[in-house]
Amino acid sequence: MRPFILIDLPFVPEPAMNDTQLLRYSRHILLDEIGIEGQQRVLASHAVIVGTGGLGSPAALYLAAAGVGKITLVDDDRVDLTNLQRQILHTTSRIGMAKTGSAQIALGQINPEVEVVAITERVDGERLYSLLANASVALDCSDNFATRHALNRACVQRQVPLVSGAAIRFDGQISVFDARDTDAPCYACLFPPHQQFEEASCASMGVFAPLVGIIGAMQAAEALKLVIGIQPSLAGRLLLLDARSMEWSSIGIRRNVACAVCGTAHAPD
Ligand SMILES: [Zn+2]
Repeated sequence: MRPFILIDLPFVPEPAMNDTQLLRYSRHILLDEIGIEGQQRVLASHAVIVGTGGLGSPAALYLAAAGVGKITLVDDDRVDLTNLQRQILHTTSRIGMAKTGSAQIALGQINPEVEVVAITERVDGERLYSLLANASVALDCSDNFATRHALNRACVQRQVPLVSGAAIRFDGQISVFDARDTDAPCYACLFPPHQQFEEASCASMGVFAPLVGIIGAMQAAEALKLVIGIQPSLAGRLLLLDARSMEWSSIGIRRNVACAVCGTAHAPD
C-alpha cells in the first residue's frame, strides 16, 4: 500500500454550529476522526454528483443526511418505472419527473439545510469544468464511458478529487482518483480514453438492486473522508465486489506517466 499522505485542507471559518445542528450531527461529532471541526468541514463542502440513478441515489442521500453544505446534481434523465427497483431517491408518484427535481425533493425532506442545485442537462467537458468551480469532491455515478472520461478530465484540470463507482449485474467497483496528489492515478490511467471498452448498461444487462446501494454508499463514505481529511482514501486502489459470493478484491493502480489526461497535468509550464 502507498504511504499515508496528509493533505492540507483549507481552514474552515465560523459560523459555529447552532444547537439544532449540534444535535443533528452529534453522532458524527462524537467520532474522534470527525469532531466539531470535521463536521464544519462537511457543512462547508460542495459535492458534485454526476448521475442520480442507482449509485447517485444512496450517495446523495448519505451526503445530504451528513450535512454536506451544497450538493450539485447533474442528470438529464426522467424517472421511469424501471428505475424504481434500485434508484431509491425516486418514488412511484414521481415517475415522469426530472430525476434531479425528484432528488431535490428527497434530499430536502432528509435535510432542508442542504443547498441542492439541479442541473437537468446532458453535460460535456466544458460544462463540467465550470460546474466543478469551488467543488470539494466529485462523484461519478454515471453509466457511460463518455461522461466518466469527461468528468475525470475536468477533475484533473480543477484538481478536484473524484470518487468513481460502477455496478452492473452482480459486479461492482469503486476507487478514488485524487488529482491533488501528484502520485495518484486518474481514471484515464486505469481506462485509457483511446481504448475501446465494451459499454455495458443496466438496461441491457440488468443489475442487482442492493449492489448499487453498497457501491453508492461507499462512494458517499469516501467523499466524506476526502472533505474531512480522513486518510487513507481509496486513491491508488480499485476495489472489486462480486456480490454473488460477496467477495471483495483489491487491485493497486499506478499513475501512468504517459496518461493522456494527467500525464502532464503536474508538469511545470
Ligand atoms: Zn491519468
